[in-house]
This record gives sequence, C-alpha cells and structure tokens, in this order.
Amino acid sequence: MPFLAPERTYQIINGIINAERLDDLLDLLCAEIVALGVADGYLVNMRDASGGYLSCLKIRYPAEYQNLEQSYLGYKIPLDNGQLNARAMATRELVRVNPGNANSEEQNILLYWKIQEMTGMPLCAPGAPAGAPIGVLVLLKQGPAIPDEDFAKVQELLGLFLASLSRWLHFSHLEQLHDEATAAVAENQRLLQFLDDMTSLTSLDKIYELFAAELIRQLPFDLASFYLVEDDHLHFRKAIAARPQLESLRQEWEHHLLQTPYPLDPTASGLVYVMLRDEAMVFPDFQEIRHLPLAGYDKKSLAILRTPRTLFISPIRHHKKPIGIFALYSLEHTVELSNADLDLLGDLSSFLGTAITNSKLYATSQEQVLEIRHLNAMLEEKVEALAKQASTDQLTGLFNFRTFEDELVRRLHETARAGDHEPLALLLIDIDHFKRFNDTNGHAAGNDILAAVAQEIGRHTRQSDKACRYGGEEFVLILPKCGLEGAIQLAERIRDSIECQAFATCAGQRSVTVSAGCTIYRPGDDRQALFNRADQALYQAKERGRNRVCSL
Ligand code: GH3
Ligand code: MG
Ligand code: MG
Repeated sequence: MPFLAPERTYQIINGIINAERLDDLLDLLCAEIVALGVADGYLVNMRDASGGYLSCLKIRYPAEYQNLEQSYLGYKIPLDNGQLNARAMATRELVRVNPGNANSEEQNILLYWKIQEMTGMPLCAPGAPAGAPIGVLVLLKQGPAIPDEDFAKVQELLGLFLASLSRWLHFSHLEQLHDEATAAVAENQRLLQFLDDMTSLTSLDKIYELFAAELIRQLPFDLASFYLVEDDHLHFRKAIAARPQLESLRQEWEHHLLQTPYPLDPTASGLVYVMLRDEAMVFPDFQEIRHLPLAGYDKKSLAILRTPRTLFISPIRHHKKPIGIFALYSLEHTVELSNADLDLLGDLSSFLGTAITNSKLYATSQEQVLEIRHLNAMLEEKVEALAKQASTDQLTGLFNFRTFEDELVRRLHETARAGDHEPLALLLIDIDHFKRFNDTNGHAAGNDILAAVAQEIGRHTRQSDKACRYGGEEFVLILPKCGLEGAIQLAERIRDSIECQAFATCAGQRSVTVSAGCTIYRPGDDRQALFNRADQALYQAKERGRNRVCSL
C-alpha cells in the first residue's frame, strides 16, 4: 500500500519533470526526504564520470553539526575501502550500521557525530549501465533506529526519482566530459602556439624566458634557471623569476650562479650529477632533506633562496644527448608533480634543446654571413687594386701601353661612328736627349724625371683624356672631342711648363725638355695610321731641333 497520496505523487512527478539540472532534482529529492522526517541527516553521494568513486553532492548533518556541511560537500568517496558506501554499491542492498555491528572506523564516525544509525541505501536506477547503482543515499539517525516502514517510504520516494536521476546524472557526466575535452583542446592549442613561438625565436635569452613562462604558467614554481655545457663546464646562462616581487632575490642568486662554472664532475653539484646521469630528478621538499650533505656551490645557491621547497632538475637534451640543465624551484610551498607533468617536462626538455641548438646555429650562420661579407669586401678591394695595377704603369702612375691600345681601339670606333661631329686627337710626347740625361745623372734620377714629367702631363689633362706611358721616355695622350688646334695648344702648354721648371731628383734639381707630335683622326684611319702620323710629327719636332710641338 503506497504511503504517498496520488495528489502528492502527482506533485512530486511534476517537480521531477520540470527539473532542469541534476542539482534541481537533487534539491527536490532532499526536500522530500526532509519532509518525510525519517532521519536527522543525510548524504547524497553520486557516481562520478569515471565510476571510480562517489561524490558527495548533497548533505545535511544533524542540527548541531550543520556548520560543517560545506567542508564535506564534493568530498570524493573511494569505492574500494570496504566502508558503508562501498558496501552499499557492491551489494546493492541496504547497509545498516549501528553501534552493534559497526567496524572500528564506523564506530568512530557514529561516536563523533553522536549517531545511532547510519544507513546506506544504494540508488539502483532501472536501466542504469551494467545495473550498478548510480549512488548511495546515506541516512543518519541520532535517536532510535529507523523502523523498516520508514525505509519503505524512502524507497517509494526514490522510486519516483531514480529514472530521472539516472538520466540527469548521465547528462551531467557528459557535460563534465565535454568541459574537460574543451579545456584539453584549448590547452593543446596553447601548447602548439608555445612550440611554434619557441621555434621562431633566434635569441637564446628569449627562448629561456618563453620556456620559463610556459612552465611557470602550468606549474606553480617560483624560479627557473638554465645552464649549458661549454668547454667541459656547465655554465649558468639565465635565471627567471615567476613574479616581479622575486626580482631582487633572483638578482642575488644570479650573481652567485654567474661566478663559477661547474666542472663536469658529479660531486661538483647536483646539477652536474643530473646531467651526467641524464635523468630528471625531483626533490619533493628540500626542507625535509636539508640536513643531507650538499656540494659547496649548491649549498650557497640554496641558502640564497632561503626557503627552497620543491626542486625539479632536468637535462636539456638535443638528439637525445644532454647539452645542459634546467631547474625549477618553488619557494615556501611545495609543488605536486603528477606523472603527466613529468612526461610533459620530459618532452619539453628535448624541445628546449632543439630550440637552443637551432638558435646557436642561427647565431653561427649570422656570424658567417658577416665574415663572408667582410671577405667579399676585401676581395673586391683587391680585385680593384689588381685591375689598377694591370692597367697602370708603376713608375709614373699613368695608364700603361696595354690600356692605351684598348682605349685607342674603343675611341676610334666611337669617333668613326660619330662622323665629323666628334674629333679625336693623338699626342705623342718624348723627352729630349734622355739617354744623355741618364748617362749624366744616373738611371735613378732619370726615373725621378720620368715620374715628374708624367705628373706634369697628368696635371694638364682632362678627365676624359687618357694619358699613358707608351714605353721608355715616350708618352701618348688620347684626347677625345679635341681638334688639332686644341691638341697643339695642350702640347704647347705641357712642353712650356716642363721647360720652365726644374724637377727634384736624387741627383738634385734638374730640367729637361720634351718634343711633341700631334694629329687628329681622319676618316679611314686605323690605329696604326693614326699613330704613325703622330709619330711622324714627333719625328719632325726632333728634326727641327727638339723642345717643340709639330702636327700633321
Ligand atoms: P731623343 O731626344 O732623340 O729622344 O733622344 P733620347 O736619348 O731621348 O732617345 P733614345 O731613344 O736614344 O733614348 C731613350 C733613353 O731613355 C734610353 C733609355 O736609357 C732611357 N730610358 C728608357 N726607359 C727608361 C726608364 O724607365 N728609366 C730611365 N731612367 N731611363 C729610361
Ligand atoms: Mg727621347
Ligand atoms: Mg724615345
């Protein structure tokens, strides 16, 4: 015979149908349990998504303990501890515990809460997966034991709720899984972004900073430090603090770490030990092992940190070989590292090694680029000097015979193409009686004269003129856009200025004269014809007494 009147049943079912969340439904159930007045308190413990434990979702303690309810809410109850909830779930039967049958732990609970009876009612929903209960309703009774008919009432009430409860629980598990999956996807995306950012960095400092920031974001460490192996020593490279407030501590610490590179001897430092062992180490709480003997460097380093707690030290690997160390330190509080955290740290240490190596390669290649640029510039200068050397005469600095030949051919073509409009003059200059000069003053003084005459010739020529040493003491000038008159005038100016001065030579101040022959291009001339005519003019100048200019 149901104890609930049809109208009441109808009301409750209506409430159940209108519930929009698991929480609403549980509130409704709890209100009805309270209304029944069969117990002094209760706990509604529901299965979690993994099925591994129950979560306490609703709670009501006997009146004098109600201020403790919040601290128990959400508590996770294991299903393998053989206690009340676990037994109710396993047997799917009512588990009644009272001072007469309680085990020692249950006795304590009964005593502590001043309870006479504590009963676990498995919530067996029709159609629940594998028939397992979806939770346990625990009733607490301070006074006399709960009579059987009261359990029947609760069971009747539960009968109304169980199907909906099962569906809403399932739904809330799905929601929870969805939230977890969304969070995991977001975390993965962040990690990918981090990896992407790391690979695009070329500065080692930036790599350390980004890496430390990512680790500190995921795990509540306070300081990170990085070391690299170079020249058979482990060199400190960077220390990073999680918060600006730790900056002065970080600086003091860094000052110490910068002082001495660690030799690669496992007794030198725990860091070297970890690197040589090539396996990460965790010290869950340094405060518990601080009495153990430490290497001198480490003792000082940890003393600066004052309250080091959890230490994580890992090799930085590249191609599976350790190339350095990174270490994480928490101050004041310990950091719990799960296996998943340790796996992540292991993966990241290899990634860090690759990023560091790439950045170093980048730096080396940049250096090489600069060196190559420098070498190229030097080479260009050399080529230029060589080209100049090949085209000029060493003694006089004027262009040499080869350049004269090339230039004459070029200018002849140019002038032939331009027709009458563009004249081209050729001027030959020869020092008079130079053999005699050498004989009198010596070859070295002759050389000085050659250089001085060349300088004088150069002083009178224009940018477009080409003054060359033809050979011996003969000079030839190619004068583009210059007519015969102009050539004669130029020759006369040069002759005159040479005649009028004495040049400093190793044999003292000496004077010389020159003779000159000039001509201009005539249509049909090849270079031989042009040159021969200038040579003939020069010959005439010599014939007519030297120190003069003749033209043809
Ligand atoms: P001329 O007035 O007819 O030109 O008489 P010259 O003596 O100048 O002519 P010649 O061709 O007989 O002699 C040229 C001299 O120039 C011979 C050689 O000793 C001298 N000579 C040629 N090259 C050099 C040089 O590089 N240095 C010196 N010191 N003398 C040179
Ligand atoms: Mg001569
Ligand atoms: Mg000569």
